[in-house]
Formats: sequence, C-alpha cells, structure tokens
Amino acid sequence: MKISEILKKKATISFEVFPPKSKNANLASLYKTIVELADLNPDFISVTYGAAGSEKGRTAEIASKIKNDFGIESVAHLTCISSKKEEVLEVCQELRDHHVENILALRGDYPKNKEVKEEELDFHYGSDLVEFIHENFDGEFCVSGACYPDVHEEARNLKEDLLALKKKVDAGAEYLITQIFYDNQYYYRLVKEARKLGINVPIIAGIMPVTNAKSLKNNAKMCGCSVPYELSTMVEKYYEYPEAIKEIGINYATHQIIDLITNGVDGIHIYTMNRPEIAKSIFTGIPTVLRELNHA
Ligand code: FAD
Repeated sequence: MKISEILKKKATISFEVFPPKSKNANLASLYKTIVELADLNPDFISVTYGAAGSEKGRTAEIASKIKNDFGIESVAHLTCISSKKEEVLEVCQELRDHHVENILALRGDYPKNKEVKEEELDFHYGSDLVEFIHENFDGEFCVSGACYPDVHEEARNLKEDLLALKKKVDAGAEYLITQIFYDNQYYYRLVKEARKLGINVPIIAGIMPVTNAKSLKNNAKMCGCSVPYELSTMVEKYYEYPEAIKEIGINYATHQIIDLITNGVDGIHIYTMNRPEIAKSIFTGIPTVLRELNHA
C-alpha cells in the first residue's frame, strides 16, 4: 500500500532502520530488530540507503523482506547525487519487482574526498530524483522527500530552503519526513511557513531519542540541528551516567511526541538506530496517546 493512502486516513507511526555496513553481513540481527519493532504495530518501516557508510545494495533486499515476509509496509530510501540514471532505474526496478511501493527520494550528501564536477552529474537535487521516478514509473511508486526544521545546512535561510522544498513537492513528493530536531518550535515554524507557500502535503516529524551524550553532539553536528539549553544541560550534568542519559533521552523524546500529537502532527517517525528497546520504552510510556494519534 502507498503511504500517501494511509496518510489520507490517519496520522502514521513509523520507524527507520539501516542496513549493515558490510556487503556480506548476516541480516539476522537486523531482522530480530524488525520483529521487535513489528510488535509495536507501525504503519511503515523505512530503510536507509548508504547513510553513515551502510551498504546501499541491501536496502531493496531489506525493504522487500519487511513488506513481503513481515507484512509491514516499507519505504526504501534512495539517494541520487553519486548515481547515474541507469543505476537509479535498476534500483527502482528491483523495488518494483519486489512489490515495494514507497520510495523516500533524497539527494544524499556530496561525497567526501572526491571532487564532484557539477556538469557530470545526472541529478543535482532531491527534486530531480522525485521527477525522474515519476517520469519512468508513472504512478507505480508513492514518492516522498526530506525537509529540515532547522534549515538545511547549505541553504542561506528558511525561505530559500522552503522554495526549494516547494519544487520537490511540485515534482511529486506526496509527503515529507523531517530531519531530526530537538526543539518542536522549529517543526511548527516549518509547517506554518510551508503552508503559506502552498506546500500542503503531510509533514511527518522525525524524532531521534538521545541514547548517549556523544551521540547527541554527533547527531546535532551531522544533521545540523540545534540542541535546546534544557536538553544540553541535562545531558552535561549526567555525562558520566550512561543509564541516566538514556532515561533522559527517552523522556525528552516522549515529551516531544506528546506535544507534537497535541498539536496535530501528521505522523511520528522514530529514528530507531536499530535499537528497538528505545522505541519500546517510548511506546510503553504513552500507549493511549499514541493510539489517539494513530486513529485520528
Ligand atoms: P535537497 O532537497 O536536494 O536539498 C539539498 C540542498 O539544496 C538544500 O539546501 C536545498 O535548499 C537546496 N535545493 C534543493 N532543491 C533546489 C533547487 N531546485 N534549487 C536550488 N537549491 C535547491 N542520506 C543518505 O545518504 N541516505 C539516507 O538513507 C538518508 N535518509 C534520510 C532521511 C531523512 C528523513 C532525512 C531528513 C535525511 C536523510 N538523508 C539520508 C540525508 C540527506 O541525504 C541529506 O540531508 C542531504 O544533504 C540532502 O538531501 P535532500 O534530498 O533533502 O536534498
């Protein structure tokens, strides 16, 4: 089923997993994670593509397994900046052959340690990929895109970023998933300003619970998101106590989610980092609130 169809009826709850780094790695532990996430009854699970050095070639395989063996809708991430059109066609054909109907179309980050010649690129932006998929697979995929509450690091300001986002939606992105954010006000600002520009597709909020002090710093740097004073103070104070940081992270993310649901969010996407126990802790804390979201 296409995620856009689910979003017409209700707000969604979803998770994100990533493939292992090595091409030949056994997927048993990832599938165990998916079994545990399945217990939480998500509307879909997405699988990253080449993020943080993970193996690109396995995204389609895992997305197919989630859909066909676990019976959960899957979304395959796909990046384009380092790819030729033929490669993208191949991945899309593989997804179609395995009945995966949803693609999160991304530009991806420019490769480090490799000079990129703009004129040799087949794709420049996420919107090019959205358009390419629709042109070549007319109506076969539900295509979505990414957006940035804290503003994408390459954009000069929110307005510029949102004008680019509008192009992505006009190219056929049917819903959006946000980059992680720790301050809900940035999500609300993004939604408000996007609506003013006529971006009317659902905007799913991406939440990544803090699991340790180091990862908070790394994620904030990598994803370009700000860390509120309140959160950084708590994490600084309990820096030496990993279990306390985990509790703080779960509680902070839970509070973010309650606030988002209260304010009518279109969906919650949890970046699980392949750690189902974190998602489980959030779910056991607010089962009724989440049920309300899911049936809204
Ligand atoms: P774009 O939409 O192309 O935007 C990139 C920059 O270009 C922005 O500054 C934007 O304002 C500007 N821009 C866009 N279009 C135009 C235009 N037409 N004219 C001028 N400027 C324009 N990375 C991975 O490698 N693998 C993954 O699986 C992955 N999953 C992700 C999932 C989510 C939900 C998110 C939020 C990010 C994910 N990323 C992933 C990271 C992503 O690839 C990077 O953030 C990347 O830098 C931007 O990708 P994008 O598709 O948002 O780019």
